[in-house]
Amino acid sequence: MTEVYIALGANLGDPVTTLRKLLEHVQQLSELSHCRCSSFYRSKPMGPQDQPDYVNAVLYAETELAPLALLDFLQQLENDFGRVRGRRWGARTLDLDLLLYSHLKLQHERLQVPHPGLAERDFVLLPLAELAPELVLPDGRAIGDLLDAIASHDLVKIT
Ligand code: ATP
Ligand code: CA
Ligand code: CA
Repeated sequence: MTEVYIALGANLGDPVTTLRKLLEHVQQLSELSHCRCSSFYRSKPMGPQDQPDYVNAVLYAETELAPLALLDFLQQLENDFGRVRGRRWGARTLDLDLLLYSHLKLQHERLQVPHPGLAERDFVLLPLAELAPELVLPDGRAIGDLLDAIASHDLVKIT
């Protein structure tokens, strides 16, 4: 079993309902076990600003899937929840990013782990720290130090 952290994001339709349904759904699937989810946070979009605010959370789970199989699984879930791929960082019903796969470091054309945006994004670091306040990244950086290093903008805890 491998411990993984997955970032959840949504900004189309009813994002809170989407994330709740997703959590309910994955708890019934065998691919992810021991699921624990952070609080939900509302954040301003990255990139194009002409789109609704996001709702973000981080999910902890354990899996037997290999990294690329897990990516396939997450992308299938995005599709099942009605995602249509558009412009980069554009609006979406569901975005699932693999943040951490145990202590693995991977640079593959389809998959970079840890997720390259992890250390700079308050909407990822804050919910991640909620689940794992003592977390240390594969490169040795502690999550508390990463949080101290970024200004938190417009991030509101909603549930
Ligand atoms: P960002 O990755 O900066 O948050 P995004 O989530 O909007 O941007 P997507 O359009 O969802 O980007 O994904 C683009 C591609 O990123 C995916 O097709 C996938 O192959 C690749 N990718 C690389 N590393 C990861 C990862 N750790 N988790 C999810 N997708 C990844
Ligand atoms: Ca993303
Ligand atoms: Ca993504």
